[in-house]
Amino acid sequence: MIIVLKPQCTQDQLQEFSSSLQQQYNVKVNAWFGTQSTVLGLIGDTSVVDIDYISAQDIVESVKRVQEPYKKANRKFHPDNTVVTLPTGQKIGDGSIALMAGPCSVESEAQICKVAESVKASGAQFLRGGAFKPRTSPYAFQGLKAEGLELLKEARKKTGLPIVTEIMRVSHIELFEDVDIIQVGARNMQNFELLKELGRINKPILLKRGLSSTIEELLMSAEYIMAGGNDQVILCERGIRTYETYTRNTLDISAVPILKKLSHLPVIVDPSHASGISWLVEPLAMAAVAAGADGLIIEVHNDPSRALSDGAQSLTPQQFDSVAKRIFEVGEAFGRTH
Ligand code: PEP
Ligand code: MN
Repeated sequence: MIIVLKPQCTQDQLQEFSSSLQQQYNVKVNAWFGTQSTVLGLIGDTSVVDIDYISAQDIVESVKRVQEPYKKANRKFHPDNTVVTLPTGQKIGDGSIALMAGPCSVESEAQICKVAESVKASGAQFLRGGAFKPRTSPYAFQGLKAEGLELLKEARKKTGLPIVTEIMRVSHIELFEDVDIIQVGARNMQNFELLKELGRINKPILLKRGLSSTIEELLMSAEYIMAGGNDQVILCERGIRTYETYTRNTLDISAVPILKKLSHLPVIVDPSHASGISWLVEPLAMAAVAAGADGLIIEVHNDPSRALSDGAQSLTPQQFDSVAKRIFEVGEAFGRTH
């Protein structure tokens, strides 16, 4: 971290400020004296330094980070890829393509079980399905809630597929005890109280990028979970808000290699929410694999035209079967396994 001091800063003020920084943050402070101003360089773990506190000091002209503010999620301090491994053996981030598929919402036992069986036959290793749904309209279907979780477990029992489902509040953590991967949706990426609590449990967390969040903000949210002791975080690029209206969101494909470069955490892509249009799922999914994604999460519905949420972006099981084949073909071309 580089701090530029105001020209009128006195030697005493400089001394006092430097020693307070050393004591408060346990960093080394080097000073360079120019003709106009003095520059301080902070060396050590500056992720704990409060940049707003520094800027607010009278003698400070400007301050700039030269190191990322996240530490546990940072590849610099953890060069090897993190591989998230479920107790049942499925892995995410080991070079294989993790394929998660299922309906946007769990709607009935017959629906979830049918979809689970078909996506499994097509090569998916994980079943997705929303039980608690974050909907823009309070009048829209809000999910089957606790009953939805039970139906997911039923589908897991029938197929052996681990389940991925979204949590929206801290008080539900106990209810999610038997869920294999807990999803934090885009709308809750900065629900810091939820992230902190999920940091205290020993379960993989699928963290989706917020609608208007930067890559650094996504990594800071991962840091919240990891700072609590849970390092099983899977990052998910699911499209961001831009001025383009053709698609529901804009898939930020560059986020994949950037996240892989900055962090050791596995990165998956959600081409369904990124596009909002079912025919776009296949090309976006293939692009994601080619860009180095560790997996995909794709919405599949037995009857998209009657889906209670996100029908327009949902694939039929038959369509998913052909998309999955293409995904694995692209994966093979890039030396990936499945
Ligand atoms: C979902 O996965 O159904 C969902 C609501 O996703 P997102 O949080 O990315 O919008
Ligand atoms: Mn959805």
